Amino acid sequence: MITQPKLPYSPDALAPYISERTVSLHFGKHTKAYFDTTNALIAGTEYEDMELDEIVRKSSGILFNNASQAWNHIFYFFTFNAEAVHEPEGHFLDKVKESFETVDNLKEAMKEAGKTLFGSGWVWLSSDADGKLLITQGKNAESPLKDGLYPLLCIDVWEHAYYLDYENRRVDYIDAQWNLIDWKIVAQRFDDIFEDF
Ligand code: MN
Repeated sequence: MITQPKLPYSPDALAPYISERTVSLHFGKHTKAYFDTTNALIAGTEYEDMELDEIVRKSSGILFNNASQAWNHIFYFFTFNAEAVHEPEGHFLDKVKESFETVDNLKEAMKEAGKTLFGSGWVWLSSDADGKLLITQGKNAESPLKDGLYPLLCIDVWEHAYYLDYENRRVDYIDAQWNLIDWKIVAQRFDDIFEDF
């Protein structure tokens, strides 16, 4: 049994970049459906007592699609903070510079990845096991967890993430993410990975 956590902010906290209506539908209906379906699929199976990330790593097919979407959406929504730190700082900024030279280059590369992803999916910033940062695209529910990567940040580019607020303007929606993403959370995720090594 997996449980959808409550959002750490109110549904109107991301406006005007993401509206209360989008948060309510996207987190309250779409994300909830992925959790509900995952729970229905794991009941009475070997997956029943696993953590969500373990289910993602070990499953395939319809269970993978739903469990991974549940995981991806929590990762996405929990990157936002009404009091976000808008730029990488300190040693994480150094990591960004090692791979991208500038923060703007990283943002441009994520935008390009989002723009060129055909259909539904995700854009990811992850670390490899050596602490090198990289950007990948994932179609549908695809997850860097399956590729041995350590996700740090994701942007949902399924139409349901932006259509109510931005209609077909996916790129405008991607640009707006930088007003919401808290780099302190992203940097903390990086630190948490390498603390365990
Ligand atoms: Mn979504």
